[in-house]
Amino acid sequence: MKTFRDIIGQEKAREMLFRGLEGNKLSHAYLFRGPGGVGKKSVAQAFSAYINCLAPTDGDICGKCASCRKFRSANHPDFLLIEPDGAQIKIARIRELKKQLSFPPFAAGYRVVLIPDIHVNLSRAEVANSLLKTLEEPAENTVFILTGDEAGAILPTILSRCQVVPFHALDENDVAEFFSDELSAPEAAALAVISEGSIGRAQLLQKLDILTLRQEIIEALLARRAEDAESVEMVFELTEKVLTIKNNLDDLLDLLTVWVRDLLLFHQGISELISSRDLLSLMADAARRWPVAVLFEQLTLLDRARIQLLRNCNRALVFEVLFFGLL
Ligand SMILES: [Zn+2]
Repeated sequence: MKTFRDIIGQEKAREMLFRGLEGNKLSHAYLFRGPGGVGKKSVAQAFSAYINCLAPTDGDICGKCASCRKFRSANHPDFLLIEPDGAQIKIARIRELKKQLSFPPFAAGYRVVLIPDIHVNLSRAEVANSLLKTLEEPAENTVFILTGDEAGAILPTILSRCQVVPFHALDENDVAEFFSDELSAPEAAALAVISEGSIGRAQLLQKLDILTLRQEIIEALLARRAEDAESVEMVFELTEKVLTIKNNLDDLLDLLTVWVRDLLLFHQGISELISSRDLLSLMADAARRWPVAVLFEQLTLLDRARIQLLRNCNRALVFEVLFFGLL
């Protein structure tokens, strides 16, 4: 379980929550709203543990009291996480929740009901509306925390009953910091560039091992020339490998575009602005191989591939043509 100490960024959201606590104005329903993967659920858990901690110190939980121990073992009886057991939360689940709420909390603190991703999980009006009255007049010592994407549609009836706490995309340094234990600093920075300020998104890309794939592509291209007999087979092999990351092909194109731009910077001798720092050792060879004019052509090829993907062209063909063009 995350505590405030572990959470990166989102200072504004935290400040807003703490200000409410200091003024003794704990809202009975919060909506944490912002992009996916920026820490909404983590802050919700940290806040739930905090308001229940018996001896909070320095703006965080004590970690030792009975409540903290229960949170840590993920079985605090007054912390209710409502998630769908299918595509969305069903109305029966809301009825069951209301029944649970008709009993007082088990401990002396607050009962927290966390419903994540309501733009998906509570998008059916019928289900959302069944919750409205409870949101408006919740049981005593009960706090609702809903989370939702800023882009996703959230019913106005829900919105109007919640105190909205805005969450923001993280900056690249914050995302990189999150990966400082598992990745080298240059790798973490390279991943952060394509993360769009979302740790969740960066984690997904990290799971796909997209940085390694990018490096394999660049090394393979560097090792061959268009006229080599083996190049055809290499292009097919690379394409086959690339197609395994199905839904993130555009992210791979972004990474390759960043790489080409970095090579242009390298040519200009402006290496302090290079993002692909994990590939610095390849850059001298690559710059000798691909002069500036060729790199501009490569940027055009990458753009074309991106457009073709958007138009649902045959993906294998798109990447075969791209890789031949980049040789
Ligand atoms: Zn505690």
